[in-house]
Amino acid sequence: MLLEIDDIHVHYGKIAALKGISVSVDEGEIVTLIGANGAGKTTTLKTISGLRSLSSGAVRFDGRDISRMPGHKRVLAGIGQAPEGRGIFPGMTVEENLLMGAYARKEDVSKELAQVHELFPRLAERRTQAGGTMSGGEQQMLAIGRALMAKPKVLLLDEPSMGLAPMLVQQIFSIIVEINRRGTTVLLVEQNAQQALQIAHRAYVLETGRVVKAAPAGDLLDDPQVRAAYLGGA
Ligand code: ATP
Repeated sequence: MLLEIDDIHVHYGKIAALKGISVSVDEGEIVTLIGANGAGKTTTLKTISGLRSLSSGAVRFDGRDISRMPGHKRVLAGIGQAPEGRGIFPGMTVEENLLMGAYARKEDVSKELAQVHELFPRLAERRTQAGGTMSGGEQQMLAIGRALMAKPKVLLLDEPSMGLAPMLVQQIFSIIVEINRRGTTVLLVEQNAQQALQIAHRAYVLETGRVVKAAPAGDLLDDPQVRAAYLGGA
């Protein structure tokens, strides 16, 4: 397994947000976490990237226990994250934002920049525009592009489709598939369960801090309970 979280418990003060979550992601997979608001999806990603610390359990990555490793070292180890809300530096240009994603790397990053421009031609066209003046969809592309600049082995995506027009939603999901096809493992958190299950290999359903189902994504698309709860009952 490339990434394994093992029975993690995470608290905000006295509130238990994660009550023993176990999730594993194999190299080359797209795995998705679905669940209602407050189920613990974002907290799970933050615990993997080191933004939250755990009360018990373990996070293992690439054969190492990284449970106590600081966040910036996890980026260097190969964990990339495009956070919910995007976190673009508004006063910096698009290109400067992208380069920030690679600031910890010493080597030449022009190859990565070219690859990001190829995936997102809009970011090449707008390289001198201030990040804060990009549209919602463009900022989402920028956040993903910036995470890719660090050459992650696994990319953590938190609600990449949030707030986007339907056409852009399609585009973002196609790009995630392409990123995966080019060799990056993906752990995807989505409210848009239908789309997420369509592109993922496997999925976990989270409810109030626990995993209640884990299965191949295609099985969950056909699961009556999942359909009723997360796919609009259709
Ligand atoms: P959403 O889709 O709404 O973002 P989520 O599944 O990502 O939901 P989390 O954001 O991980 O859920 O939240 C899990 C639980 O932890 C919720 O009950 C939430 O209220 C609580 N929580 C999250 N962040 C904080 C915080 N900073 N302080 C206190 N409680 C928090």
